[in-house]
Amino acid sequence: MALILDGKVVAAKVQAAVADGVRALRARGVRPTLAVVLVGDDPASKVYVGGKRRAAQAVGIEARDHLHPGGLAEADLLALVRDLNADPTVHGILVQLPLPRGVDEDRVLGAVDPAKDVDGFHPENLGRLLAGTPGVVPCTPAGIVEILDHYGVDLKGAEAVVVGRSRIVGKPLAHLLLGRHATVTICHTRTRDLAAHTRRAEVLAVAAGRAGVVTGDMVRPDAVVLDVGVNRLPDGRLVGDVEFASVSARARAITPVPGGVGPMTIAMLMRNTLDAARRQAGVA
Ligand code: NAP
Repeated sequence: MALILDGKVVAAKVQAAVADGVRALRARGVRPTLAVVLVGDDPASKVYVGGKRRAAQAVGIEARDHLHPGGLAEADLLALVRDLNADPTVHGILVQLPLPRGVDEDRVLGAVDPAKDVDGFHPENLGRLLAGTPGVVPCTPAGIVEILDHYGVDLKGAEAVVVGRSRIVGKPLAHLLLGRHATVTICHTRTRDLAAHTRRAEVLAVAAGRAGVVTGDMVRPDAVVLDVGVNRLPDGRLVGDVEFASVSARARAITPVPGGVGPMTIAMLMRNTLDAARRQAGVA
């Protein structure tokens, strides 16, 4: 039976360190502040934004909501982002995705000041990751590496396989693992024989957004499995991309869903916000 990699425990450790850092900044008169921009009324986005706001409050970060449930024209959204960029009391800007149809996501994400881009989605921050000199790192991939570090998983020379090549998870994660000297393979929907790749993986991260895409026969017995997926089954259950029963019976270690990668994403957002506030306050 696999060791359960408990994201709640690791996230609590990160949050406690962030809370200490926030206290220290506040003692110097800096109030770390995160602007949260939500356009439209997508129910899942509202839940995510609520979770982020609660996490911010718990560590002493001020969360300022900019909610536009009725929608916002792209030009007005760009103007809001510019205002937040210029506001010295705002250290981090989070634009909740997805944006409504008709709004160019790339243009909006590209308009955020890279120094305040706490999601790490600005092309400059993604480019720095590619260049090997990371700036702000996207939260979910950063959280996965944090879990691996917490549990002492040695990445140097390890065979790592990432299923999924999205801009927010798969690609940045692959580069983080490469930066830690893993030998990295990225799989996607055109990969010819997915199982042939996953069976080689000592570290297997799955971010496909499809329940059951990896089953027990597709993992090696010493694999460390990171399940990023969040899927709602017709019966209402929340599951990952990995078939938990068969994979946990075989692998060395696995993150559960819920309680694995999810809590880390929010914790790393808090750390990115603290780091942004520190940089803007000139505190090392
Ligand atoms: P995405 O943008 O839809 O990307 C999915 C990726 O998986 C694509 O690259 C796709 O390949 C690949 N893929 C899909 N089905 C596949 C299959 N059968 N075999 C191999 N590759 C396959 O999704 P995302 O934004 O990266 O998110 C992935 C999952 O993680 C979702 O369930 C999402 O809800 C979850 N998520 C969780 C957190 C968290 O905090 N826990 C954060 C972010 C995302 P192509 O490129 O060829 O289409």
